[in-house]
Order: sequence, then structure tokens, then C-alpha cells
Amino acid sequence: MHNKTITEQAKDLRSGKYSSVELTQAYLQRIKKHKALNCFITVTEEHALEDAKIADTQLSAGNAKLLTGIPIAQKDIFCTQDIKTSCASKMLDNFIAPYNATVIENFNNAGAVMLGKLNMDEFAMGSSNETSFYGAVQNPWDTNTVPGGSSGGSAAAVAARLAPAVTGTDTGGSIRQPASLCGITGLKPTYGRVSRYGMIAFASSLDQGGPMARSAEDAALLLQTMAGFDSKDSTSVEQAVPDYSAGLNNSLEGLKIGLPKEFFSADLNNDIATTIEAAINEYRKLGAEVKEVSLPNMKLAIPAYYVIASAECSANLSRFDGVRFGYRCDNPADLNDLYIRSRGEAFGAEVKRRILMGTYALSAGYYDAYYIKAQKVRRLISEDFNKALSEVDVLMGPVSPSTAFAQGEKTGDPIEMYLADIYTIAINLAGLPAMSIPAGFVDNKPVGLQVIGNYFTEARLLNIAHQYQQVTNWHQQTPQGFE
Ligand code: GLN
Repeated sequence: MHNKTITEQAKDLRSGKYSSVELTQAYLQRIKKHKALNCFITVTEEHALEDAKIADTQLSAGNAKLLTGIPIAQKDIFCTQDIKTSCASKMLDNFIAPYNATVIENFNNAGAVMLGKLNMDEFAMGSSNETSFYGAVQNPWDTNTVPGGSSGGSAAAVAARLAPAVTGTDTGGSIRQPASLCGITGLKPTYGRVSRYGMIAFASSLDQGGPMARSAEDAALLLQTMAGFDSKDSTSVEQAVPDYSAGLNNSLEGLKIGLPKEFFSADLNNDIATTIEAAINEYRKLGAEVKEVSLPNMKLAIPAYYVIASAECSANLSRFDGVRFGYRCDNPADLNDLYIRSRGEAFGAEVKRRILMGTYALSAGYYDAYYIKAQKVRRLISEDFNKALSEVDVLMGPVSPSTAFAQGEKTGDPIEMYLADIYTIAINLAGLPAMSIPAGFVDNKPVGLQVIGNYFTEARLLNIAHQYQQVTNWHQQTPQGFE
């Protein structure tokens, strides 16, 4: 059962081949068996079995909805009513959300069964899942390496078949980079496509939730569930949600692919470059035309991002003050002591570094020099993409400059860690949709191909990924020991 996609599982559940309770139990057992990967912060076993029972009643009554009875796990950044929502921080270790995020409500309404809450980098800050208060996550392809981050628990869980499909969030690459490092399919939607209501904020102008799954076909079902206007999120866009599964089999004849020359510079590992070129050749065979384009301001993306994201996070995280919810220090002497010690004791080193950088960039005298300057650079980057995407339909390139790196390799050097997102961050600054698609292996470690589209072209991206997955089987490979 656990080797099937959710598209297949939905069929099996409808034909009565197995029940949702059986399917859910199979995953719960695998989660226990592979506990060492540390993918889950919370497993909601009882809750899941109850939901599965209800799903089975609906299935036998012929009332199945899109995901009725399908087990899904959620990144622990989405608020879940009456269930711990930690954002992988000591700050929220005791936090039980009083309401559901819109994304969670959407999954409930579609009939999905929630297996639990997935490990991640603390407050989604990181590229390796090593900043989690609950410890690092192992990459099932090589347990000495990282799964990527911040949605590392999400990506590792799908790769190890501990959940058939999951959610992630992507502020600067956190869906695509772990998807690439774990050999799964991930999609970061256009900013505003998926509601951020109840999704704990890191950098509000960049954060976006999206699906992570085995195949593009499955990602389409998840996005169908997640996407849509939400009056509770002021940046949610009021635009109709297309049928993401309907166009999967459209032909790619005449598709115009642009290869940004800055993506294929000397910094890119040779073997990864060869893998990406092979993937692009498959697209040529499928009828695509390929040409070079340029994103001249790419090199400014990382510095601009770390000013903007840090500035926004310093504002967002000011709500964690030890007063209203979350961690509170013991015996505060006065209000100042309460603030200082609660925050000092509960935030990890990376979160503190970002808050300090952000507060600095926003302070009087530095605001124009850093924050305003970064916003101007953001505009230039966005214009580069607009220009490139006026010449071609999509852009393609690598997701990550390397395959999964060793645990601990980059933890001592934050800048080295930040560079892991060199190919993904600019896309968030521009607010565009992009995917990571399994495209091969280098030294037995997965490599993802990145496909970037124009605003609200998720259906076309899924179609492009699905066609590739019809002629390749990279997305079907299973790490040894997790079959
Ligand atoms: N690695 C990037 C960061 O640490 C992106 C994280 C994300 O997308 N949530 O900011």
C-alpha cells in the first residue's frame, strides 16, 4: 500500500481493495519503525484512526471527496486545533492552537486523514533541518546527510514512505530544496495562491504553503485542496482555482524553455549540471524549444533576501513575549526580565541571529541603507524574471548547488548555509511559482530539476512535470531500507 501514490490509493479506497483504517495503520506502523529519521514532532495516532473510520463510512456510502481516507502529514507550522503546533521551537513547545489554519481546514473538508505534524527548522529558518528544537532529521537516501530545510521532515517522510503526501512552506526554497535533496516532487505556488491564515509567519511577504508528494499527479490533488481565496488572509488573491489534474496530459510540443545563464555558472557542481542538461534533453524530445536567457541581478538575491526576510521575521516574532502564549521563564523579576529571559531561553541561535539582523536593518539610520535598498533590489530581480518570462514560457535550472550534504557540515558557517538557496530565493522575491522534480542521482543522492513559471501558471508547471514523469522513473525510486 505504502508504495502507491495517492492517486492510486484513492482508487483502491473507492473500489474497497483496502480500507482507510488499514492504510492509516500501515503508515502509523512505518512511522514507528523509522522513528530514527525523526520526521515527526507529533504523531496523532488516535485522531488519525478516528478520522479513518469516518472516511471508511463515507467511502462505503459512496460519498467520497477528493482525498477521503488518504493519510496526509502536515508541517508543524500550520496551526491545528487542539493539537500541539510547535514550529519546531522551544518557544511553542507547549502551544496548543485554538483554531485550524485554512490549509488544515481545506484538508479536513477534502476528507484527508492527518497522521501528525512534521519536523522542520525552527520557525522555518534553515536549509538543513538542523535548527529544530526537536533535533535534526535524517535523509533516508543517506542517514548521515541532511534532508534539506526548512521542510526537511516533510521531504524525508515522503521519501521514506512514512506519508504518501505532505505539506511544506517555502519562504526562500523550503519546499523545493528539501524536495530536491530527498528525491520527491514539490511545488511552491504563486504568492497569494494558498492561504497563509494560521500558518505561523516567518517573512510574510515571502511565505507560501504548497504540496510535497511522490508525483506531479499527486501534487495536483494536494494543490487543488490547498489553493483558493481566503478572506482571512489579506494577501490571498481572488482568482478562480483551475482543475489542476485536467491539463496534466497536455502536449509540450512548442513549449519554450529558457535557461538562465546565471544558473549554469562555475559555481554549479559539474555532475549536477550534467544531470540537469540530461533532463532538459528529455524536454527537447517532448517537443520543447530551448534558449538561453539572463537574470542579471541574480547575484543580489541572497543579500536582499536576508535583509528582507530578517526584517519581517524580527517584526513577526515580536509577538512571542512570554506573556500571551508560548514559553515563559521561571520567576521573572520584572517585565523586562520576563521578556528578555523568555525570548533568550526559548529561541535557538539561528532565530536569534535573524531577529538581530532584522532589528538592525529596520532601525533608524539603517532603514534606508539596508531595508529600502533591499526592496529596490527586489524590484530589479522581479523585473528580470518578467523580462525573461516574456521571451519564454518557463525557466529551468538546478534547485540546489549540491546534493544532500553531511549533518553538521555547514552548521558552523551560516553564510555557507545561506548559499544553499542560491537558485531558489530569487523566485520568492519575485513571488513566482516553481517546482522541484526528481531528475536523477549523483553518487546515489537525488538531484532535482527546477521549473519556474509565470504568475498563476501552476497548472502548466504540473503538466510539464507530469509529462517528464511519464518518460522517466526518477520519481519512483525508493531509498534502500525504506521499500
Ligand atoms: N533557507 C532559507 C532561510 O533559512 C529559506 C527557508 C524557507 O524557505 N523557509 O531563510
